[in-house]
Amino acid sequence: MRIDILTLFPDAVDAMMHESILGRAQKKEIITIRSHQIRDYTTNRQNQVDDYPYGGGRGAVMQADPLFRCREAVLEEIGAPAHTIFLSPCGKTFTQEDARRLSREENIILVCGHYEGVDQRFIDECVDEELSIGDFVLTGGEIPAMAVADAICRLVPGVLGGEECFTDESHWAGLLEYPQYSRPEVWHDRSVPKVLLSGNHGAVDRWRKKQSLHRTRLRRPDLYESVVIPKKTRAEKKFAAELEAEWEALQNGSVTDPAQLGAGEP
Ligand code: SAM
Repeated sequence: MRIDILTLFPDAVDAMMHESILGRAQKKEIITIRSHQIRDYTTNRQNQVDDYPYGGGRGAVMQADPLFRCREAVLEEIGAPAHTIFLSPCGKTFTQEDARRLSREENIILVCGHYEGVDQRFIDECVDEELSIGDFVLTGGEIPAMAVADAICRLVPGVLGGEECFTDESHWAGLLEYPQYSRPEVWHDRSVPKVLLSGNHGAVDRWRKKQSLHRTRLRRPDLYESVVIPKKTRAEKKFAAELEAEWEALQNGSVTDPAQLGAGEP
């Protein structure tokens, strides 16, 4: 997988994208992330990439031609087609499902806008899809591009330790992750739920599954709506009944800390 980021701030992008897990994956040549200075593809002496908006109004708009020439140079360097994404608050909201889909692409180009945005003609001619990272407006597309690239790259086989590193996480199966704890056992009078110290892997798995379901129901009822809790076998029915009783306890106030639900003796 190769990702090319077209930006006015390649140093800022490189500083982030060559660190930690993504840096190690690039050293191992599992992924390649390159940034490209759009200004290098201007044809004027001032290396100007923006101009006033036709029709008036405030700010400046990034011109189509430097972006086009920059993308053409990248395509020539790659020698293959590349799925081109423009980061934009007007795009579809990026999700884990998009990250999964895009992790199967060979080559991706991420285009970072700045100022008031980008000349629509470049988008119409060169962009395959527009992605937003949320309903808010940032000053530039660099942070969205880095967020999207990071989310995609960590799903590429070999980048993380194993598949379970992400299949266990929030948003993979439509649920939020359970709470996590590390040493010490007691910190500021707060204890780790007993079940996690029991060494009983079955009980730990069960607790984590319930915590994940409760947390999603509490914080993201929109996601929880699509969750199906199986109730066919006797064990499944028992699990579903316990889950309901714990939820009830949370609703009627007999348990106030959701992390304590089902956290008693295993
Ligand atoms: N005038 C634009 C609008 O109202 O939609 C906003 C332009 S914004 C100040 C400059 C650039 O930042 C955008 O072209 C885009 O590349 C990036 N950007 C800002 N917010 C974003 C978001 N939520 N998701 C993705 N990209 C964003």
